[in-house]
Parts: sequence; C-alpha cells; structure tokens
Amino acid sequence: MSSKRAADPAEDFTPIRAAVRALCGKFPGEYWRDLDRVRGYPTEFVRALTEAGYLAALIPESYGGSGLPMRAAAAILEEIHGCGCNGAACHAQMYTMGTILRHGSPAQKQRYLPAIAEGELRLQAFGVTEPSSGTDTLSLRTTARREGDHYIINGQKLWTSRAEHSDLMLLLARTTPKEQAKKRTDGLSVFLVDMRLAQGAGITINPIRTMMNHATTEIFFDDLRVPAENMIGEEGQGFRYILAGMNAERILIAAECIGDAKWFIARATAYAKQRVLFGRPIGQNQGVQFPIARAYAQMRAAELMVQEAATGYDAGKEIGAEANMAKLIAADASWAAADMCVQTHGGFGFAEEYDIERKFRETRLFQVAPISTNMILSYVAEHVLGLPRSY
Ligand SMILES: Cc1cc2nc3c(=O)[nH]c(=O)nc-3n(C[C@H](O)[C@H](O)[C@H](O)COP(=O)(O)OP(=O)(O)OC[C@H]3O[C@@H](n4cnc5c(N)ncnc54)[C@H](O)[C@@H]3O)c2cc1C
Repeated sequence: MSSKRAADPAEDFTPIRAAVRALCGKFPGEYWRDLDRVRGYPTEFVRALTEAGYLAALIPESYGGSGLPMRAAAAILEEIHGCGCNGAACHAQMYTMGTILRHGSPAQKQRYLPAIAEGELRLQAFGVTEPSSGTDTLSLRTTARREGDHYIINGQKLWTSRAEHSDLMLLLARTTPKEQAKKRTDGLSVFLVDMRLAQGAGITINPIRTMMNHATTEIFFDDLRVPAENMIGEEGQGFRYILAGMNAERILIAAECIGDAKWFIARATAYAKQRVLFGRPIGQNQGVQFPIARAYAQMRAAELMVQEAATGYDAGKEIGAEANMAKLIAADASWAAADMCVQTHGGFGFAEEYDIERKFRETRLFQVAPISTNMILSYVAEHVLGLPRSY
C-alpha cells in the first residue's frame, strides 16, 4: 500500500479502492452469511486486512504505519462496505490507537504503536458505555482506585465490542468521585488494559447476541489490577481524550454508511432493471425508480459531508460539527437506501441468500452507535446554532 501522504483534497484514492475491492472479492456474501448464522468472527477477513496494512492506515510511518490521511482510511472502509463486507469486526483497530498517539507518553507510543501497526497487538476494544449511564458518559460508575503503583478497577461496561478479539482495551474509568471533581468533565481517566493478563484475573467477559453479527460483550471488573504506567495522559483528563478521538470514529463510521448506501443502491438498480413484471422491467415504473434515485441523491449529499469532514480533519481543523453531521446524514442515507432496497426486491429482500436483509440489519446500528442520532442533533442545536443546552 502506498505510504505517501496525498496533498490533494479531491483525490479519491483510486488504487487503494481498487486493491480493497480485490481483497473483498475473496469474501463474498456466502462467507458473511455463514458467519451471520452462527454469529462468528470474520477472522480470515480481519487477517487479510491486517496483512495488507489497511488497519494501520492512520498510524504515522515513524511508528510503522502507512501514515495515510483520514480520507484514505475513509475510502478503505467505504469500499469494504460497498462490497457487501463489514468493517465492524476491526475498524476500531484503525482509530482507537489515536488516543495513544495524541496523549500517550513517548515510551507508550514506542511500546504500543509499532506493534499495533504490525498487527501483533490488537487494540480494538473500547470500554466507555455502561448499563446505568449509557449516553451520559460523565455518570459512569466504573472506578479506578490508586494503590501503590497500580490502579484497582471495579465496575461494569456494556457493549464493549470485540473484547474477545483484542489484546488491549482502552478503558474509561472514574478516578475522582463526581462530587469532588473540580469541573463537571474532570475526574475520568483512560487506561490501557492488557486483556491477555486480565482474563480470569479481574475481568469476566460475556458475549451479547444482537440482531446482527457484531462481536459485542458486557464486561465485569472485579478488583482488576492495572499498572499505573498504563494510564494514558494525565489523571482526571480522560473524558477530553475520549472526546478528541470521537471525530475520527464518526468520520470513519460515516464512510461505512456511504459504502452501505452505495451497495444497496447498486443492488436495487440492478434488480429493477432485470426483474420483469407486466411485460416490462419494474425499474421502468416511476414508483420503483424514484425511491432509488432519491436514495442516490441522499447518498451523494452525505458523501460530500463526509469528504468535507475528512478533509478538515486532515488539515487539522476543528471539525466537531462536520464529523457529527457527516455521521448523522450518512447513517440516514444508508438506512433510507436499505429500506428502499428491501422494497425494490419485494419478497426477495427478505431472503437470506440475497444478503439484503443482513445488510439491512447491519446498517440499522448506525442510527444508535457509536452515537445516537438525538445526541448529534443536540450537538448541532447547541454548538452550531447556539440553542440552549437541552440536557
Ligand atoms: C452493537 C453495539 C456495539 C457497541 N459498541 C460499543 C463499544 O465498543 N464501546 C462502547 O463504549 N460502546 C459501544 N456501544 C454503545 C453505544 O455507543 C450506545 O448504545 C449508544 O451511545 C447509546 O447509548 P445507550 O444504548 O446507553 O442508550 P441511552 O443512552 O440509554 O439512550 C436511549 C435513547 O434515548 C435517547 N436519549 C438519551 N438521552 C437523551 C437526551 N438528553 N435527549 C434526547 N434523546 C436522548 C438516545 O438518543 C437513545 O435513542 C455499542 C452499542 C451497540 C448496540
């Protein structure tokens, strides 16, 4: 994979896209369908992406990554989804390391980033959400109490995806009680938990079966001992570090939504041309072709927003609003395209072998995770439009 940082914001990374499509061609619908039935992890697919270097796209070359811009990483995930594959099993390997890159000590960067770039270490578990606090991150209850040169972690995380397929987990825990914190946003800290050491020595992981194949879990922490040197950045500043990483996550997930939307539109278009009823292709009826055209227009608008957010990110601009809006409208575009695709296929939209019902279930997630639509609307209302804070 090319490691040269592209300067042209309009570049669409054609060679990378073509190479990703070629890789994805080895993982057809049947592969995903089989895994979906048993809720299996796509180990071979993740290995292929790792070996090709795609998951190290955003790691600087000085740490063994490809040093590619966000636009290239977005193109990779868009293509994966555009081919009918799913990046959920490994996309976090691309961006979770950003917290170490931005806030880690030089020793932590040297220790972890080259191994993550190489794929020797998987850092793709991210423990923020809890059962009682949900979206209200500042109310999380998992605690980290200092004891000598360790922190002792107690509590519970929910929806910690890929925890069973990750060597490390980025964990957000409370180090200062909420009522004692100087500021509302102080008192939370970020830790790098070595899952290989923690298994059976303070954590219990339970898989959660969901409507789509997503290796998500709940995790219980029971006096887990984490070396103090595994804290990232300053104690008490973890909420800010996590927020700083969210723009990258939103842009990349939005790119996956664009890929999904393109996949649904391509499938619907092909089917509408080929399915003949009443002596003509169903796509000749405006009642069938207009929803496809509308989904296409909606996808293109969302694609522009994703590109704007990614370009701003690469230029080092403050793009909280753009990243949020990209995620919002790209998720809407993929969901609208999914619904349209089922409708275009009639009964066949529900048949497993068409993959549409699987992708329909998969793309529904993006309305809720990694951030739900209402939270983005609140952000835009408050931070862009200056409306009163609603919560
Ligand atoms: C498959 C899956 C994978 C996930 N992976 C991870 C992961 O790896 N790591 C991780 O930390 N988390 C993960 N999550 C959690 C995800 O980020 C949360 O589910 C999401 O942020 C919503 O939180 P919640 O489920 O607690 O909903 P809640 O916070 O309970 O909210 C429920 C509903 O109420 C709405 N709502 C809440 N408060 C307000 C308000 N003030 N105004 C308007 N509406 C409001 C929300 O928008 C939502 O629709 C995952 C979730 C799923 C389903």
